[in-house]
Amino acid sequence: MNIERIRQPFIENFPGDFSNNPMQRNTPKVLFATIKPAGFDKPELIAFNEVLSEEIGLGKFQEKDLDFLVGNNLPENIQTYATAYAGHQFGNWAGQLGDGRAILAGEITNDAGKKTEIQWKGAGATPYSRHADGRAVLRSSVREYLMSEAMYHLGVPTTRALSLAFTGENVMRDIMYSGNPQLEKGAVVIRTAESFLRFGHFELMSAQREYNNLQELADFTIENYYPEITSTDSLKYKDFFENICTRTADLMVEWFRVGFVHGVMNTDNMSVLGLTIDYGPYSMMDEYDLNFTPNTTDLPGRRYAFGKQGQIAQWNLWQLANALHPLIKDEKFLENTLNNFGTYFWESHDQMLCKKFGLDQLRKGDEDFFTSWQGLMQELKLDYTLFFSRLESLAPDSDLKEQFKDVSYIHLNEEMLAKLSHFITTYEARLALNSISKEDSVTMIKKTNPKFILRNYLLYECIEEINTGKREMLEKLTKALENPYQELYSEFSGKRPSGYDDTAGCSTLSCSS
Ligand code: AMP
Ligand code: MG
Repeated sequence: MNIERIRQPFIENFPGDFSNNPMQRNTPKVLFATIKPAGFDKPELIAFNEVLSEEIGLGKFQEKDLDFLVGNNLPENIQTYATAYAGHQFGNWAGQLGDGRAILAGEITNDAGKKTEIQWKGAGATPYSRHADGRAVLRSSVREYLMSEAMYHLGVPTTRALSLAFTGENVMRDIMYSGNPQLEKGAVVIRTAESFLRFGHFELMSAQREYNNLQELADFTIENYYPEITSTDSLKYKDFFENICTRTADLMVEWFRVGFVHGVMNTDNMSVLGLTIDYGPYSMMDEYDLNFTPNTTDLPGRRYAFGKQGQIAQWNLWQLANALHPLIKDEKFLENTLNNFGTYFWESHDQMLCKKFGLDQLRKGDEDFFTSWQGLMQELKLDYTLFFSRLESLAPDSDLKEQFKDVSYIHLNEEMLAKLSHFITTYEARLALNSISKEDSVTMIKKTNPKFILRNYLLYECIEEINTGKREMLEKLTKALENPYQELYSEFSGKRPSGYDDTAGCSTLSCSS
């Protein structure tokens, strides 16, 4: 791999703490602290993303590169660092957080000039580890590696994953926070993104009243990642905030389209580039349920439930607005922009639903149609992905009982089947209003609705298998997630098997990673 191409423009641009001291501490007035990965004696490769490596300019993987994948024996050109950020967690101000388990190698530029940041997750403690160890376990690393790539191939903006390797070290974790910690295999993922900057980076600068750093960080972000912004002075920061709002709304719509629940939408897990970032206790949705949250820590309030993600994004943007206020200094503007977020989000959301149903455009009555659909989905406990995959082959004489067999998580009685049938009749009447052809409508359905989603139970099985030394399922899942709009493996395209309904790691997950 061409690791000699990696540079650290971030640390050249901002004040930092160059002590390499791992002691956990607050680091006011600086944006990062240099820190070395812990180093691991017996790394072992689990998976490597060759296509991504070539694409970002890192090139081919050779045996000797294994060290780099876990952060061992780094060359001179790589001065590694962790960045400081803050955040609101579960609605409360949490103060300084920072890269506690991520260490940045820097940035690489490919031949076409495209820049990509590279970081290890799980390679050791940093000043921001907050009494934790900076390590990651296999299960959370497999989940991040596979899901971020699955999202990419679904077409959802996301950070990506380059490699997955065992560290050869064990890590102690209490998965269910039940007082029974156990040793688990440690692993490191290398993840990449155009930038890992979060809302929390801006919140920290603002909370510490470091307005000069705040402005320089905003300027850096705009210059590097928002080339479309050409305005100057305070107008530039207004455009910046508006652009973040739009990208965030677009991202939420995409999460709704594919049925993704992030699980921990704290402001420190919100990308200023509108990327899906920090794959923790996330889940793809099996049975449609607006109230579904996979995160056991979130069960009491269900703050981050599937159906609330749009509102929560808006709440998080409020916090970002407060953070950017010293640069924008216009409350009315910020308020209007946040209100527009709601309008824009719901409009885009409904247009997205139109596409899922193969409808030409949002027409009068469609909102009621969607509401009745949501009621039907929840009452009949229908699988979100499978429901839509059945629509493309609906014919006027379809046997619905047959067609929707194995789509529900409960037995559908006659009354329920009658409701389904009534809904389909309404749907067909709506399709008849389309100004596009039947073929175009079906093409739209096929392009919008995945055939394969990376369900939690599949990840669970894959992790179990890797733990026994096998890689068959990992390889198959990788192929499946690279082609989510096709059905490559019928064994992966059904609903969640009933045996997994209450399995920890399938239906619910903790943050313990
Ligand atoms: P998360 O909820 O995973 O986004 O993490 C919240 C904060 O805790 C971030 O600052 C993380 O870097 C930090 N953190 C989480 N797990 C660990 C760990 N194992 N070691 C060090 N820091 C961690
Ligand atoms: Mg995080």
